[in-house]
Amino acid sequence: MQSRLFAMLTVFLLSGLSGCFGGGGDGIFGDGEELYGEPGGLTLACLRSDGFDSMVVEIDYSTGYQPDSSTVSTLKSRLQQVCDKPGGIDIQLSETNFEHQGSWSADDVREIGRDTREGVPQDGKVLRWHLLFPSGSYENDGVLGVAVDASTAAVFLDDVRDAEPWTTRPSAEQIEEAVTVHEVGHLLGLVNLVYQSPRPHEDPDHPGHSNNEDSVMYWAVESGDISSFISNDVPDEFDADDLADLADLASGELVASKQLWS
Ligand SMILES: [Zn+2]
Repeated sequence: MQSRLFAMLTVFLLSGLSGCFGGGGDGIFGDGEELYGEPGGLTLACLRSDGFDSMVVEIDYSTGYQPDSSTVSTLKSRLQQVCDKPGGIDIQLSETNFEHQGSWSADDVREIGRDTREGVPQDGKVLRWHLLFPSGSYENDGVLGVAVDASTAAVFLDDVRDAEPWTTRPSAEQIEEAVTVHEVGHLLGLVNLVYQSPRPHEDPDHPGHSNNEDSVMYWAVESGDISSFISNDVPDEFDADDLADLADLASGELVASKQLWS
């Protein structure tokens, strides 16, 4: 009980200070700002087809950290559900030596992500997002994934495996799937990262996150306290409010700010 309380407090404090989407305010974008932006900065590029008719999600993983095939297929179907890409969404996996020891900071993910990606985010008519699955943990306990700029996120499978509860569910694979979709949800701008939703579904105590336990954007999804889900099932889908926000952004009904492309 005490350790759960500590985990919840940790997550609460972290969320209040920085959250898991490392955008804005931290002054660490420097020269890359125009190219890389903040989480949500390429949501219109994904939701619409007029600038980019196809999409590549590059997944780079350390040896032994390849995401489960169900994670890859779920990620693809969640993106296909909301993004208009007539030329298709291609997920490309490659084993990668990140040449990094020990824990990861958001800066590490940004810098090493840029060093290891195979193309720029806006690559002609192709939109390229980049997910890292490195060995090692995030520097702050209780964070299973981070989104660090408009096209880059990381999932920490060491932390995901540690978060697997002693009960049978949810499994590490289910948590991995949910955290991956969650981080991509931040790249899509959820919740209220680059717009203001008319639907009151952002949790005021966890900015950038949903207040609905059945949404993949629920704050606890990326926390080490994932075992607290009462149903023993961790959501891996966007809920109706998330989908309505994305539809309104795509149609222009909701104005998107901080866009690198529009
Ligand atoms: Zn989050």
